[in-house]
This record gives sequence, C-alpha cells and structure tokens, in this order.
Amino acid sequence: MSNITAYKCKSCGLVMYPHHFRCLQCHKREFEEITPSEKGKLLTFTIVEQLPWGFDERGRVLGVVEFDNGVKALGVILAESPKIGMKLKAGWDSVRMIGDQKVYGLTFEPA
Ligand SMILES: [Zn+2]
Repeated sequence: MSNITAYKCKSCGLVMYPHHFRCLQCHKREFEEITPSEKGKLLTFTIVEQLPWGFDERGRVLGVVEFDNGVKALGVILAESPKIGMKLKAGWDSVRMIGDQKVYGLTFEPA
C-alpha cells in the first residue's frame, strides 16, 4: 500500500475518506485531493458491537486518526487495547464484504 487519497471539501473543509459523491456535511461536490501521511495519532474511537451485514467479526474499533500533517480520517483501528493519543500507522485493507466483493478501506495499526 502506498498512496492513500483523502478528499477535502472545498466548501466546508471536511476531510472524507473514502470518497463520497457529495460532502457529508454540506452536500457540495467539489473536493481537493489530499494525501495523508502514513503515521498519526488516535484522537477518538468507538467500539461498534453491532455491525451491519457484511462485516466478518463481532465487534470492531472505529477511530478518528489525525495524521502528522493535520489531516483527519476515520478508519478501522487494529489495536487490541486502543488508547487516545497512541501512535498509529495507516494501511489499506479489506474491511468488509459486500456479496463476494471485498471492500477496501483505511486501517490503522500500532506504529
Ligand atoms: Zn462540505
């Protein structure tokens, strides 16, 4: 995995990853592509117990990570005991299945 591209809304500045057709916050459609650096720290996380169909595990940790360059992104945290402020390294992996198709997304593991 090398390049992660996130999308920053030109209107309200929300950074989204992965790409959405419209900004989740203001619904505009113009984005600037930004490339998060590979390392960051965990800002906040939540443990999701009830997953939508397509996830192959019982619970997972979703967290917001701030990269060293200030970009924030939501991803799956692959740490057994996540802690706010811990250093994480970004990766790109399959995060769920839709039918027999793997869907890839941002993952973070302890750096
Ligand atoms: Zn926006």
